[in-house]
Amino acid sequence: MSVTPTHRTFADRHMGVTADSDRDQMLGALGFDSLDALVDAAVPADIRMDAPLALPGARSEEEILGDLRGLANQNTVMTQMIGQGFYDTHTPPVIRRNVLESPAWYTAYTPYQPEISQGRLEALLNFQTMVSDLTGLDVANASMLDESSAAAEAVLLMRRASKAAATAKAVIDQNLFPQTINVILGRAEALDFTVEVADLSQGLPEGDIFGIVLQQPGGDGAVVDHAAIIAEAKERGAMTTIIADLLALTLITSPGEQGADVAVGNTQRFGVPLFYGGPHAAYLSIRAGLERALPGRLVGVSRDAEGRQACRLALQTREQHIRREKATSNICTAQALLAITASMYVLYHGADGLKGIAERTHAHARTIAAGLTAAGIRVASASFFDTVTAIVPDRADAVIAAAADRGINLRRIDAGAVGISADETTTAAHVARVLEAFAAAGFDVAAPEAAALGDYAFDAALARTSDYLTQPIFWEHRSETQMLRYLRRLADRDLALDRTMIPLGSCTMKLNSTAEMESISWPEFAGIHPYAPADQTAGWRALIEDLERRLVEITGYAGVSVQPNSGAQGEYAGLNAIRAYHVARGESQRTICLIPASAHGTNAASAVLAGMRVVVVKNLETGTIDMDDLKAKIEKHAHELAAIMITYPSTYGVYDTDVREVCARVHDAGGQVYIDGANMNALVGVAQPGKFGGDVSHLNLHKTFAIPHGGGGPGVGPIGVAEHLLPYLPSDPRAVAGVAGSATPVVATLFGSAGVLPISYAYIAMMGGDGLTDATRHALLGANYIAAQLRDHFPVLFTGAGGLVAHECILDLRELTKVSGVTAEDVAKRLIDFGFHAPTLAFPVAGTLMVEPTESEALDEIERFIEAMIAIRAEIQEIIDGRFEVVDSPLRNAPHTAEGVIAGEWDRAYSREQAAYPVARLRTDKYFPPVARIDGAFGDRNLVCACPAPEAFED
Ligand SMILES: *Cc1c(COP(=O)(O)O)cnc(C)c1O
Repeated sequence: MSVTPTHRTFADRHMGVTADSDRDQMLGALGFDSLDALVDAAVPADIRMDAPLALPGARSEEEILGDLRGLANQNTVMTQMIGQGFYDTHTPPVIRRNVLESPAWYTAYTPYQPEISQGRLEALLNFQTMVSDLTGLDVANASMLDESSAAAEAVLLMRRASKAAATAKAVIDQNLFPQTINVILGRAEALDFTVEVADLSQGLPEGDIFGIVLQQPGGDGAVVDHAAIIAEAKERGAMTTIIADLLALTLITSPGEQGADVAVGNTQRFGVPLFYGGPHAAYLSIRAGLERALPGRLVGVSRDAEGRQACRLALQTREQHIRREKATSNICTAQALLAITASMYVLYHGADGLKGIAERTHAHARTIAAGLTAAGIRVASASFFDTVTAIVPDRADAVIAAAADRGINLRRIDAGAVGISADETTTAAHVARVLEAFAAAGFDVAAPEAAALGDYAFDAALARTSDYLTQPIFWEHRSETQMLRYLRRLADRDLALDRTMIPLGSCTMKLNSTAEMESISWPEFAGIHPYAPADQTAGWRALIEDLERRLVEITGYAGVSVQPNSGAQGEYAGLNAIRAYHVARGESQRTICLIPASAHGTNAASAVLAGMRVVVVKNLETGTIDMDDLKAKIEKHAHELAAIMITYPSTYGVYDTDVREVCARVHDAGGQVYIDGANMNALVGVAQPGKFGGDVSHLNLHKTFAIPHGGGGPGVGPIGVAEHLLPYLPSDPRAVAGVAGSATPVVATLFGSAGVLPISYAYIAMMGGDGLTDATRHALLGANYIAAQLRDHFPVLFTGAGGLVAHECILDLRELTKVSGVTAEDVAKRLIDFGFHAPTLAFPVAGTLMVEPTESEALDEIERFIEAMIAIRAEIQEIIDGRFEVVDSPLRNAPHTAEGVIAGEWDRAYSREQAAYPVARLRTDKYFPPVARIDGAFGDRNLVCACPAPEAFED
């Protein structure tokens, strides 16, 4: 045997099973002698790729950081005073390092299992409290995808909640940001209702109106008293949404106090970098009474089995995973990590700190306005917060160029108007340079700034008088030591990937490597404004184009757009493309979308948002689509058939062998095929949806392509489309009246959550084509190994060719539930006592658990999971054998808190040891959840969605 020096590639690190002996043992247990043989047996031959992925060779971690450095250097970091919804901010280093860059926070999953998510749920509750206080409204959710899409959701919310006639229209003020107007118009077009853009400073237009949308400050920076128009709207039976800047609201009367029903906006400027457009957490808050119409995630307070207060997601029956096509929105992944970052920024600064930042920002804007006025330059509105619009007939380009020469980006409104936005990072030196650029130099920039403090450039009647952020949580963490410990304390309550495998079927919780993550906070990526001129963003564009090209190769489609900032947003964008295609061919009657019963809830919810009608196709007991039912539905709706949405491999974790036939039948009837790409981890390098029948797919870069889940976001949901749909990819949201022939934009910026794209870029580049394919093969190996080891203990619900599963497997608890009373939920909660995050519970089949180990888990971790499941199975047997009742069992009483196990008398039918240390290896590494089983329904009946008020702490 020849001896070659060991050289481990990145792929070797990414894969959990690294030793040949482990791999051989796993393959042996499955009866295969190679990974290739396993893949050949599992994946239908008629969809296999005939050549390996044509991607550049794998790069090492050192090389990729060099490549990214080179790309970063092609971007120009400027002082960003463009504004228009994006403002520079200082991310406190303690928050950057210990939240944004901390795997304890960024590798966590959406808090569906609240007992192991109390840390991030508390942080999100703080976020909701902050938003609700600043906007003066009763309830805020835990995050929207971005400001423009949040505004569109607010319009839909008003439409659902208002009592106006079905033919009523929305009226939106012309002084909203242009990107927001375009995103709202796109949503309305899909749903076929009227949105009128009007100058609402002139009063309401004629006609039936269900809701109006205003902005504070307005798109041109003007701070306006909206009370009169809101009163008029109310009189006419219309609801009001205000898109509001939260920093401005520390000084200005809140939307709630002005009479608004809904407020939306971005929380980016609370410590979240510009990120070239995203990810950022938007917010949405409502007055009491609208809770059930609220889109997105809502955190609420409830209680656990031992009487403690505990948080969990509230009112989930509004959401897509339960209500499907009747859901209040299609939002699944939101922007949890960014919401948490913003909330911590607010905790760190407190009310007085925020107000100080707002006053400094405002003072700089006042100085700019004063300097311009002194130089004879007209300022569009004398009432503003941070943004001044200078009227410079025909001089806009010259002024902007002069500012750029001085390292500053300003906003070009038109040939004769320039916007200047101050922010937290603005200094007197910046102000002086801005004035120079306008040839308004020589103004004493220091003097008026000092004079301006405490005295505002807007009507005194609009100055905020109400308190905000008075709860103890907003003044307890002002020192860095306190903040550091708070962050650590919360993180320690949670189970994220940095502690345990998260075997969540459909969610692909794989490694988020440090090398992939590192570059996202480099200023040359993070500090770029989304609307910076193209000559400053060459590095970003090169990275995105390269990533898109690689995704094209991986999916087999003709083109990709990275604009959608979640999987569900990708579904909406992809279905929009399908709809636009049918309309362009004169077939606007094609609005029926076939969706299998097994589909993810977002599919149905997105179809409705894209203006389609959902028709459900049955699944057979074997899990595959019921071909007879499909044929019947196609025949019945042939004339109106727009599309079918399928997931491949199916949500049942199986490679259906007849996928080509399903696609062909829909195509023959004139429909398009949408393949949900959430399960791409079972396809990369093996089969391409663009080649076996798909017309469009979204990918979840936050599943298959290594972007972390962030505790419930960020996500990136690019869509790949076939040639004929290329013209309908989402367009630039800033384009006036859209880009001809293209589908409407879905979010505020062309590249959506660009800021996290370096992660997927690095992942793909470091893996190379072979590494990516190997990841798929290892994903299959892990899932099949678990299925094989657990099959005798828990039936595996669905299998495909050769009794094999794809990259995940469904364990069926239903028979055991019948004979023992133990539910899949009991098993999920008992796994917490073993230190595991539960598998996917009750999706896609109630009463089951769906397990996906991914390629990143080592055999030892996989064995630890198997051992836990077998131990749990033995506990179920004890109930079946009558040793104790299910209500007295360690399963029903799970999870066990430390306090519950050690305190007081122990009168359970099982020992304390069995409660806490059911297997030996827990003795050295034990996680205790901070709360016992949470009563979700109690919280829904007694809805509390904010931190306790100060009075709650009085004795
Ligand atoms: C995760 C998932 C989605 C939704 O993606 P989000 O990014 O959460 O919006 C859609 N379909 C399937 C099958 C999924 O697993």
